[in-house]
Amino acid sequence: MKSERNVIMGYWNIVRKFDAHVHVIPEEKRQELIKNYGETASWSKANVNILLGNMDQFNIEKALLLPINDSKTFYDMNKTNEFIASIVSKAPDRLFGFADLIIKDAYGMYEGAEELEHAIKDLGLRGLKIHPSNLNIPADDLRLIPVLRKAAELNVPVMYHSYPWGPGFYDMSSPDKINRMIKIFPDIKFITAHLGGMRYMDAIRAVDMVDISVTIVELVELYGIKITNNILRKFGVERLIFGTDFPEFSYQKYFDILDQMDFTQDEINQIAYKNISNILNL
Ligand SMILES: [Zn+2]
Repeated sequence: MKSERNVIMGYWNIVRKFDAHVHVIPEEKRQELIKNYGETASWSKANVNILLGNMDQFNIEKALLLPINDSKTFYDMNKTNEFIASIVSKAPDRLFGFADLIIKDAYGMYEGAEELEHAIKDLGLRGLKIHPSNLNIPADDLRLIPVLRKAAELNVPVMYHSYPWGPGFYDMSSPDKINRMIKIFPDIKFITAHLGGMRYMDAIRAVDMVDISVTIVELVELYGIKITNNILRKFGVERLIFGTDFPEFSYQKYFDILDQMDFTQDEINQIAYKNISNILNL
């Protein structure tokens, strides 16, 4: 029998959640943002104490910290991984992190793999984040093979940023390109971020697990709740992962949207927590 439809008003607010897509940036970089864009700009809030405060307020039990392969917002690869590990250490039962990747030159192909091994084995990070647009390397580029082979060897998940747009060429992070790596590495658990952006139709067919961050908000603006709900149903509950891209939008904004959808409490538990905790073996 199907379990009860979400009958409790505001269930998303109270249910145990694991936010699979959050960002905290180095404090000196955040201070630069505050100086340039003000305290209220979204990324001015990318601070661990603000994150933990939000997690307490909105019943986010755990969160996955992600780098963005961008040494301007973070540091170079090694220092970024150390930074993320240092943030994780502030609440090691609640915060988890993925490793960064920077490939600047030919040596970078191999340094990325070595650094991933260090990040997993020595720093305690849990997977790899690849941001093809920031890297300026297409998602299916052969330069990514060594680091993906290492991820397979270490048996850790890989999250691809997927939001075709800038910087660089539009389709760097497109779901069809990610699909090629999924086919080549069937032994890696891939997560495609942002539902594939406005290429969500490709993502439905081309990729495996997806996080719902950012694009769910844009789909609701475009199509309203019902059609967005249909799109999420087309992906299927077993593939959907709750993520917000904190500090991009408020938790309340996500819950106001998600509470209007037709998911049962069991399905919400799966999307909000179980799917990502299974991938991370937590
Ligand atoms: Zn993000």
